[in-house]
Amino acid sequence: MAKINDNFLKLPGSYLFSTVAKKTRAYMEAHPDKKVIKMSIGDVTRPIVPAVTEAMHKAVDEMATAKGFHGYGPEQGYDFLRSKIVEKDYKARGINIAADEVFVSDGAKSDCGNIGDIFSTDNKVAVCDPVYPVYVDTNAMAGRAGDFKGERWTNLVYMPCLEENGFLPEIPKEKVDIIYLCFPNNPIGVAATKEQLKPWVDYARENGAVILYDSAYEAFISDTAVPHSIYEIEGAKECAVEFRSFSKTAGFTGTRCAYTVMPHELKIDGTELNALWNRRQCTKFNGVPYVIQKAAEAVYSEEGYKQTRESIAYYLENARIIREGLAKAGFAVYGGVNAPYIWTKTPDGLGSWEFFDKLLKNAQVVTTPGAGFGPSGEGYIRLTSFNTREATKEAIDRIQKLV
Ligand code: PLP
Repeated sequence: MAKINDNFLKLPGSYLFSTVAKKTRAYMEAHPDKKVIKMSIGDVTRPIVPAVTEAMHKAVDEMATAKGFHGYGPEQGYDFLRSKIVEKDYKARGINIAADEVFVSDGAKSDCGNIGDIFSTDNKVAVCDPVYPVYVDTNAMAGRAGDFKGERWTNLVYMPCLEENGFLPEIPKEKVDIIYLCFPNNPIGVAATKEQLKPWVDYARENGAVILYDSAYEAFISDTAVPHSIYEIEGAKECAVEFRSFSKTAGFTGTRCAYTVMPHELKIDGTELNALWNRRQCTKFNGVPYVIQKAAEAVYSEEGYKQTRESIAYYLENARIIREGLAKAGFAVYGGVNAPYIWTKTPDGLGSWEFFDKLLKNAQVVTTPGAGFGPSGEGYIRLTSFNTREATKEAIDRIQKLV
């Protein structure tokens, strides 16, 4: 008789966004006259820029010709895109990455999840709390997380990110093998400086640990002290994998293109992780469509870069409006400078869900309760800058009036 992977049965229902959607729907049905503003959107809303869609159209036309047709591409990505990534995202910042260390993929989400394939289930895994849930759930599916008891997995090491530590994780007391770090991060929206990242690289090198560094929000960095890549830290190529994505950088959430960097120096017991990841990708992945990779390449063109930066600036201005508007209303506000997310402490000791309900009912503003990202998120809500300028201003205005 076939047996299922019963680790899946241990997973708690992913109730955060479905509960947010359910509560929002119920409110809207009961109050059809009220205009609800969604500040919980985790997806970009601005269109893909013209320079990129033009490249996409051109690639579609090529596909309609015998000469320009492309079937299966290289599993690791086309050289034209890998070399652009190397040149523009790394070399331009003084980082030496080779094209064969870059693996183009259909998403940082898939890569962050699939990376577990190349690690033993015996590894001790550390995650931030609160955290992007993919790191936790994929380790649970692989049987690396133990059992879900109370609000935590028994075999994961949680690194609380709290007001008192500036929302930056501290190196765990117990020895860990794999460490997920995400900067600028989701959900808090804070970034780490080189000085703050260095101890992690030192720890990983001293203990033979691997850092899985999610840099999906790199494009939002506006502070010059914040590194854009973990490889800006000396020695990181020996101990870190980096995930990047075109999703938030260039509006590719629906188009799907990302990449993972696996330096050759990164070895466990003499085995290069690059070779294992290459083997994994060649076996389980057949590459990102040619048309999409051509579009991603255009993000690095002069016009493509200029236009995508305008979209990022638009979101960052929304983030500023949220941050400053909430601070003016007396809220403790974090994030939103180097990230599209703003993390706000609930007033009067209200729980995350209580404050969520209050904002929905009394201001018709939808947020995301912090508790949904992990136990240390209790007492906070997350707002995003992905709505329009007009809706963002109105939402903040309503919250200010409410309090
Ligand atoms: N990593 C983080 C921290 C995210 O918040 C997200 C999406 O919200 C992703 C990765 C997913 O990126 P992609 O669209 O490339 O799968």
